[in-house]
Amino acid sequence: MLTAEIIAIGSELLTPQKTDTNSLWLTEKLNDIGVEVMLKTVVGDDELRLEEVIRDALKRSDIVMTTGGLGPTEDDVSRQVSARAVDRELIYHDEIEQHLRERFRAWGREMPEINKRQAFVIDGADVLPNPNGSAVGMLVKLGEKILAVLPGPPREMKPMFGEYVLPKIKERSGDVLVRRRIIKVSGMGESAVDEAASPIYIEYSDVQTSILFNQTEVEIHLAAKSTDAVEAETNIAEIAERIKEKLGKAVFSTTGETMEEVVGRMLTERSETLSVAESCTGGLIGMRLTEVPGSSAYFREGAVTYSNEAKIARLGVPEDTIANFGAVSAETAEAMAAGMRERAGTNHAISVTGIAGPEGGTEDKPVGTVCIGYSGKGITKSVRIVLPGDRYLVRWRSSQAALDYLRRQLLKTSV
Ligand code: AMP
Ligand code: MG
Repeated sequence: MLTAEIIAIGSELLTPQKTDTNSLWLTEKLNDIGVEVMLKTVVGDDELRLEEVIRDALKRSDIVMTTGGLGPTEDDVSRQVSARAVDRELIYHDEIEQHLRERFRAWGREMPEINKRQAFVIDGADVLPNPNGSAVGMLVKLGEKILAVLPGPPREMKPMFGEYVLPKIKERSGDVLVRRRIIKVSGMGESAVDEAASPIYIEYSDVQTSILFNQTEVEIHLAAKSTDAVEAETNIAEIAERIKEKLGKAVFSTTGETMEEVVGRMLTERSETLSVAESCTGGLIGMRLTEVPGSSAYFREGAVTYSNEAKIARLGVPEDTIANFGAVSAETAEAMAAGMRERAGTNHAISVTGIAGPEGGTEDKPVGTVCIGYSGKGITKSVRIVLPGDRYLVRWRSSQAALDYLRRQLLKTSV
C-alpha cells in the first residue's frame, strides 16, 4: 500500500486567521484510491524549514504533495526550495512565459516582470497546467516516489490534482478502492459501543474501524479496502448489519444520516405530523428539523416557550405544575408536550426543558439536567437525564436526546 504525506506551505496557515483546508480535501481523494496519508505538516514560507520538511518527507513516504508558495512574489519559495530538496536545477521554460504573457494580455494587462519566476520548473518535472491561475504545478518522479508541487488556492489546486496528479498516483496504487460507511449510535457512550462492536469488527482485517465521539453521538467509521468493489461493499454491509443487530435500537443510522433526517424519514413513511415545544434549546430542534428538505410534510410548528409565563399561556401548562414541581421537571415536560400536541393538532409532540448552565443548577437539579417529554395518541411520558458539557453542548445534546426519544417512540409503534 502506498503512503502519502502532505505539506501545506504558507505563513498565513500558521496564524489563527487561516486554516489549511487543502490537506483535508487531498486526504479524502487519496483515501478513496487506497492511499493512506501518514503525516501532514504546515510550514511557513521559510526556506530552511521547508527544504528540511520536503527532504524528510521523501525519505518516509511514497507520495509527497505540497500546496502553496508558488506565487510570483518574494515570499513564495516553494519552486526553488523543492528543486533544492530533490537536488535538481530550475530550468527556464520560454513557452510558459509566453503563455503567461498571453494570459495577462487577455486580461488587458502587461505581465509584471516578477511573474517570470513562474516560468521556472524543476529539471525533468512534468509541468502541470493551471487553467485557473498563473502558477503551473510540477510533478517530479524520483524512482518509485512522486513529489507533486501544487498551488495554494483551492480552486487552482483541486482541478490540477484531479486532472494530472491523481491518474499518475492511480497508476502506482493499482486498482485498490475504498468503501466507507458511518454507523451512528445514540444513547450509549464510546467505551460501551466499542465493547459491543469490537468482537465483530476485529474479524474483518480488511476493514479499518474507528470509533469516535461527535458532539451528540458516537460514530463507528468503517473503511473497507479491496481490489474488488463487490467484495468491499459486501464486507462493509455485513459488518454494519452485525453491529446494528448487536447494538439494537441505539443504532439510528448505518448510512450516515443525521438524527433529524432519520426522524423525518420515519414520519414521512407514516404520513404523521410533529410539533415541538422548546425551552432550554431555544428553537434548536425546530431549526434542525427544518434544515431537512421536505420537512414541511411532517413538521407543523414549534414554540420557544422560554419563560414560565409562556409555558402557561402558549402551551396550557398548569401554573400549579410549575409551582409544585419546577419548570425543569418531568411533570412540566409532559404538560408541555401534551399541550403542544393538542394545540397544534399533530400526531406527535416533543418537549424539552432543562438547565443549560452555567448558572441555575441546584443540588437536586445540577447544570445539564434536562427533562424531555413526549406526547402521542393515548400516551404522554417523559425522561429525565443529566448531560455533560458546557452550555453549547448541553443545548445540542438536549436537542439530540429529544429527537432520539421521539425516534424510539416511533419504533415502538411502528406501522
Ligand atoms: P500561495 O500559492 O501560497 O500564494 O497561496 C495563495 C492562497 O491560497 C493563500 O492566500 C490562501 O488563501 C490559499 N491557500 C494556500 N494554502 C492553502 C491551504 N493549505 N488550504 C487552504 N487555502 C490555502
Ligand atoms: Mg503563500
